[in-house]
Amino acid sequence: MTSSTSNPEIQAAPHRHTATRRTTCRFCGTPLEHTVIDLGAQPPCNSIISPEHFNEAEAIYPLTAMVCHACYLVQLETDVAPDSIYTEYAYYSSFSDTWLDHARRYVESISHQLRLGSESQVVELASNDGYLLQYFLKKGIPAYGIDPAANVAKAAETRGVETIVTFFGEHTARHLVSVGRSADLIIANNVFGHIPDINDFVGGMKLLLKPGGTITIEIPHFMRLMEYNQFDTIYHEHYCYHTLQADTRIFGAHGLQLFDVEELNTHGGSLRMFVCHADDGRQTSSRVGALYGLETARGLDTLTSYAAFGEQVRETKRKLLTFLIEAKRVGKTVAGYGAPGKGNTLLNYCGIRSDFIDYVVDRNPYKQGNYLPGSRIPIYAPDKLAATKPNYVLILPWNIKDEVMAQMAHVREWGGRFVVPIPEVQVLD
Ligand SMILES: [Zn+2]
Repeated sequence: MTSSTSNPEIQAAPHRHTATRRTTCRFCGTPLEHTVIDLGAQPPCNSIISPEHFNEAEAIYPLTAMVCHACYLVQLETDVAPDSIYTEYAYYSSFSDTWLDHARRYVESISHQLRLGSESQVVELASNDGYLLQYFLKKGIPAYGIDPAANVAKAAETRGVETIVTFFGEHTARHLVSVGRSADLIIANNVFGHIPDINDFVGGMKLLLKPGGTITIEIPHFMRLMEYNQFDTIYHEHYCYHTLQADTRIFGAHGLQLFDVEELNTHGGSLRMFVCHADDGRQTSSRVGALYGLETARGLDTLTSYAAFGEQVRETKRKLLTFLIEAKRVGKTVAGYGAPGKGNTLLNYCGIRSDFIDYVVDRNPYKQGNYLPGSRIPIYAPDKLAATKPNYVLILPWNIKDEVMAQMAHVREWGGRFVVPIPEVQVLD
């Protein structure tokens, strides 16, 4: 992705990607026949529009989640090529203190648990700017990263984290093994959903992992996504939506064994899965069976639960539109807070443009002065709220709503009220 500004998130021009429609499951090859939710055709959610391109066409692609009736892997039907989305990726993990703390605690615990030392080799897939690997290096544990985004890899190198700029899969793994760079620990955090060819990725991990080695994977849990109605986290960059049950089958097919799992609070409810070679002889933790049973109890191995989720999403749209229509009918003004990717999935699915929301505000100066993809709602600095005093402020990053309400407490001084759209529209007092 080329860019005319210093921020890669803002495109030089509305950008065309290569997109293909899948007719079969990306894991098991069964024909894909069951729609979970059709969110309509949308632009990639991070493709903010600059003023000079406001009048140009935007590329849009179907955003439909399907479920495979053989393996129950939830996946997008249309693949938008990752090379154009990821070669310059805007998300720098190090921006958040909470996230750094999460990374540091993980490194402490896994180093101790696996007795990692100066003879060990740690590899992180999608290592971003090295925010996590830096903690291994500080402990004297050799580590390197693999990431396809050249700009974030460069940021990692400046903090001393060796980063190989490429997509990971069997081809890359074979090369790394041939030059003696096999791994005792492979880390894949919040990347597993971003992989269009899941078999190539897991096959690569199998090749790269030393005998007796361990893989840890963090991934938003689709069971929690359904439970908390987080459908706005479905976007083109997320090709797959994971459950313990589907992933157990995927690892098994590649000669790997999921031997332990933890539930985390990150990203609205995530899993940390622990995986080893199937012939490793490791005991499977009772937590795996317990969570597997919970997924069965929630119907994740039946098509009806996925269909019910789809209807719940459509009803969420109707409720949000009802709220906005009624507010506008009585002359209320509505602004949005935040311009996150998930906000765009929500706004574009619901057909909400500046007819309902006058503008959004965002603290990121690179986003200000531009427009949201699809809806073309203008983005301003947060002080726009005090200048226009809207009746309602719709918080798009609902996951940080408490933080937003604390920061923007002055909204209440003019009688403004905060609203969240997820899990369903709610005016907060
Ligand atoms: Zn399948």
